[in-house]
Amino acid sequence: MRVLRIPATVTAILLSVQILGAQTKITPPKNKYSPQDDVQLGREAAAQAEQQLPILRDDNVTSYVADIGQRLVSAIPAELQHPEFRYTFKVVNVKEINAFALPGGPMYVNRGMIEAAHSEGEVAGVVAHELSHVALRHGTAQATKATKYEVGTIAGAVIGAIVGGTAGSVIAQGTQFGLGTAFLRFSREFEKQADLEGAQIMARAGYDPRDMANMFKTIEQQGGPGGPQWLSDHPNPGDRYAYITKEAQSLHVDTARRDSSAFQSVQAHLRQMSPAPSTEQATRNARNGGRTGPVATSGRISTNVERPSTRYTSYTEGNLFRVSVPSNWRELPGNNSVTFAPEGGYGGSDGQSVFTHGAEFGVTRNESHDLQTATDELVQALSQSNPRLRRESDYQRVNVGGHQGIRTELSNQNEVTGRAERAQLYTSVLGDGSLFYMIGVAPQNEFGSYDDVFDRVIGSVRFAR
Ligand SMILES: [Zn+2]
Repeated sequence: MRVLRIPATVTAILLSVQILGAQTKITPPKNKYSPQDDVQLGREAAAQAEQQLPILRDDNVTSYVADIGQRLVSAIPAELQHPEFRYTFKVVNVKEINAFALPGGPMYVNRGMIEAAHSEGEVAGVVAHELSHVALRHGTAQATKATKYEVGTIAGAVIGAIVGGTAGSVIAQGTQFGLGTAFLRFSREFEKQADLEGAQIMARAGYDPRDMANMFKTIEQQGGPGGPQWLSDHPNPGDRYAYITKEAQSLHVDTARRDSSAFQSVQAHLRQMSPAPSTEQATRNARNGGRTGPVATSGRISTNVERPSTRYTSYTEGNLFRVSVPSNWRELPGNNSVTFAPEGGYGGSDGQSVFTHGAEFGVTRNESHDLQTATDELVQALSQSNPRLRRESDYQRVNVGGHQGIRTELSNQNEVTGRAERAQLYTSVLGDGSLFYMIGVAPQNEFGSYDDVFDRVIGSVRFAR
């Protein structure tokens, strides 16, 4: 394999020297879904997003963003135009600097993004970048890499990626012990594509592509504590500013549209409105009143939970795997995970979902392909929604459904119940490179009845071929 890859790299370098000075040719990544699937997935996710997020109903602001959007849409190159797609633009009345676009065309720009921009060109930069993800069909290309999950399953995870932070992982997972949103975040490879394609679209629409790089700097500077959600969904491939500037040099824009009186008046208009709430504040009501997933709506946390049954029941999860769990545990499907928990061992409080006894299974995209590194990243992701999570052991080798796996012991203090708990994390890299995990959780003082059960449960996992 290695030997084959070296000549390919050399060819790529030679090609890039030959076309130096011309704009970069972007090839859409491999995608097993149809453009119609993009439309369907985007439509479902948009419906969910609009249930959760406060859409700003203000014609001034919305039509301004839609005008920028349409100007850029008409500059999408012919080979990336999909007749099924319909680009729409809405503004979300929250203060975080964020924006997102869904497969097939629905796009949402946060009010905070418009307020933070220094020029219309910067707003156009973010919109062009998001549009490029849609035109290159990156959402479903990402899902193609994940292979095992169906389009319908992925739609829910989109919402988590949008809302972000703790609220996002709760919505995405239906559990507090969730992995959050790594599943749908764009890879650095896709980021670079969206930057370069976005730069080209901007230039054709009469904007200066360097304003995209400027906006990314604005986002970085004004991110606030924990960094802006936009950057964690759109990681910097590294030399972002350098290659956007270089690309801009090969694109000729005579008199770039950078600022406009419309931009000034929209910003002035927004300043007159009452300040936008945070996404967390805005979605809390929607979550309490709305659907928070099966875990929160059907269970109630109790201090008196039945011990794991010695009888086991078998479940098949999608086309991914089979597992046997104690027969007094219920199956609680999440969006990109599934939890098995006994009565009293799962529930919700104050809009947060949580499980205190049982096991959660999930699959996450993994770029490192190295089991130990991928597991480190997962523990890191888990500790974002579980700030008191600690690793208590070294990695121990185990077998996970015929794959090499590792087991790690963790301790945590449950954020909802306040109780000390222990967890056992099992991970394994699957054939397609994704990371499969099971996390078994029980309160510290009951853990003795659970650790062998978790070993037995993971031992029963069989992957579909
Ligand atoms: Zn991006």
